[in-house]
Amino acid sequence: MRIDVLTLFPNMFSAYLGESILQRAQSAGLVSLQIHNIRGYAEGRHRVTDEPPYGGGGGMILKPEPIFKAIENIAAEDQQVKPKVILMAPQGRLLSHAVAVELAAEPWLLFLCGRYEGIDERVRQHIVDDEISIGDYVLTGGELAALVTIDALARHIPGVLGDEYAAERDSYSTGLLEGPHYTRPEIFRGWQVPEALRSGHAARIARWRREESLRLTWERRPDLLLTAELDEADKIFLMELAQETMVK
Ligand code: SAM
Repeated sequence: MRIDVLTLFPNMFSAYLGESILQRAQSAGLVSLQIHNIRGYAEGRHRVTDEPPYGGGGGMILKPEPIFKAIENIAAEDQQVKPKVILMAPQGRLLSHAVAVELAAEPWLLFLCGRYEGIDERVRQHIVDDEISIGDYVLTGGELAALVTIDALARHIPGVLGDEYAAERDSYSTGLLEGPHYTRPEIFRGWQVPEALRSGHAARIARWRREESLRLTWERRPDLLLTAELDEADKIFLMELAQETMVK
């Protein structure tokens, strides 16, 4: 998979993308990440990338010319595939597990990071294919939003997480929230690891994990239970939880 990012601040990406799982994914050739400076595509001695908005109102708006030039130049590098151009925007569709999985199936993504008051509307209308928001709040720029989106989708590219870690067990993948984890020591400050996890019985451990996952989802995100795949044992456990809640 190829991922390109267009930004005014390329240095913001190197620390995060140069470490841990995303760095290994690049070294293994599973994903190719390229960061481009929008300023490099701006014309003139001063390479201006932003101007005040028409109609006034303060702030600066990213100009369309360097962005169109950058996207067209990058897209021309491959005659067979076109990049899906994604604008990071508070007005975009909300990033979720489903959106991350959907994006991970694309062969080529190009993320465009806005800054200041935003981007000239003609960019959004004529060269952007999709808009993603990472939440109902406003960041100072699209760089963190692009990194969050890249991180979330990269976990779903086959091979990125390695065999020892399965994304299918994570929260949202199962339709539920994942339950708690423990590691050694068995007793820490008097708090003991639950007996089921120490039992050595695979079926018991699996059932305990499932029930803790159901319990957490019931407590924190009951909306997820409406669409989660539940078997008979899950339904009985949830009825018990509901009864416990009524008794309290
Ligand atoms: N004036 C814009 C508005 O009110 O919608 C906010 C512009 S914001 C300060 C600058 C840039 O940050 C945006 O163009 C966008 O690229 C990025 N950004 C801010 N919040 C975001 C969010 N929640 N999700 C994705 N990108 C965001």
